[in-house]
Amino acid sequence: MVGISLKDQENEVSKSIYYALYAVQHRGQEAAGISVYDGRAIRTHRGMGLVFEVFDESQINLLRGSVGIGHVRYPTTGQSCIENSQPVLVRYKDGAVAVAHNGNLVNTVQLREQLEQAGDIFHSSSDTEIIAHLLVRELLRYDLVDAVRAVMRKLIGSYSVVFLFGDTLMAVRDPLGIKPLCIGELENGFIVASESVAVDTLNGKLIRDVRAGELIIIKHGELKCHQLVRLPNSAHCVFEYIYFARPDSILDGRLVYSARVDIGAKLAEEHPAEADTITPIPDSGITLALGYHQRSGIEYRECLMKNRYIGRTFIMPDQSMRETAVRLKLNVIKPNIEGHRLVLVDDSIVRGTTSRRIVNMVRKAGASAVHVRIGSPPIRAPCYLGVDMASREELIAAYKTIAGVEAVIGADSLGYVSHKGLVEAIGISPDNLCMGCLTGMYPVEIPGEKCVIAQTKITEYLAQTS
Ligand code: SF4
Repeated sequence: MVGISLKDQENEVSKSIYYALYAVQHRGQEAAGISVYDGRAIRTHRGMGLVFEVFDESQINLLRGSVGIGHVRYPTTGQSCIENSQPVLVRYKDGAVAVAHNGNLVNTVQLREQLEQAGDIFHSSSDTEIIAHLLVRELLRYDLVDAVRAVMRKLIGSYSVVFLFGDTLMAVRDPLGIKPLCIGELENGFIVASESVAVDTLNGKLIRDVRAGELIIIKHGELKCHQLVRLPNSAHCVFEYIYFARPDSILDGRLVYSARVDIGAKLAEEHPAEADTITPIPDSGITLALGYHQRSGIEYRECLMKNRYIGRTFIMPDQSMRETAVRLKLNVIKPNIEGHRLVLVDDSIVRGTTSRRIVNMVRKAGASAVHVRIGSPPIRAPCYLGVDMASREELIAAYKTIAGVEAVIGADSLGYVSHKGLVEAIGISPDNLCMGCLTGMYPVEIPGEKCVIAQTKITEYLAQTS
């Protein structure tokens, strides 16, 4: 997700947004879109697929203007269809607003019901359209800042959002700062983006992260910050550091690459192994494996190669074709494996099926022992806050012990980094991290789940700052 406001009216912002979206493509591959204000109206182009599939030069050239927002969709709430792609545009009697959102609300059903009862009509099943409708309603009563504050009082969940309102660009981060959002300075304007790699791509300078509960307003080259709510703690998603964000991004002051190297080193301290070779499961295990290698001194060799051009394969009906599909995605470098005792490093185990296939694959290639090391503690609970993991029933660690998981994946040994080791490696206090999927304790109230920070507290703070 990105938003860019350029000072010079002659500048075409859509090209900059297009390049910035490439930089954050890893955050969503289902759909992409850009909205630009052309001086009279907001124009939008959206489509299903990757940025290069959705846009060509002619579409970019049609989006003329100096301020706009862009989005790559990662499916959370709502089905996979063009209606759920973003930015979402909502028109009302005084104008229009375009919205792009990263995160997931947990009270969408109630909010949608209330809005529908009040007469609102929805064109999608996404939670982003709900945010857009809420903002439009509040804009009829308040100025921009108070309208956003009023919307924040109603939202429960994770949300980093950019709004395009005429020639004004706004960005807001939820009171717990669950999903990342940063501000950068460009040669001729400002950028807000989910990750700092988007700022780097445009040769900009990272200013800082948007603070939890902060609203940023950028208009005609001027940037204003409003701290709408300040909670004693934040709840940054630990999985951004483990695998979601790009290693070259800086999130909440921490370079993701360094965090991953340190997680790998903790793994080596906590779960040493008698081995000849350490190898990552590409791509997300690479930096973790490097950290393990540096701490343990075990030689690092690439043993598995990922095919980067595969995309999604359709479901194969029989077993042998399914195995071909797996080999299409990942192949072995046999001489690096044959006769070696391997340490295989990955970021997480969700269902256990992929780990089992890979362990099997390296055994067939001649590994004499396979030790699996994981850069996250066991995932025991689902994520409701924007990472599409699996349901509780599908999560292998929700119903099996570590020894049980080890047996299912067929490893000689299995070691997960501990909660303490993970937190120390990330370098952020556990009071300021979301670890809901690892502990089953969430930072917001979710029906049927345990909560560490009561929503009433958040609402209280919002009321105090109004
Ligand atoms: S539940 Fe897990 S994946 Fe979801 S936001 Fe929290 S730490 Fe991140």
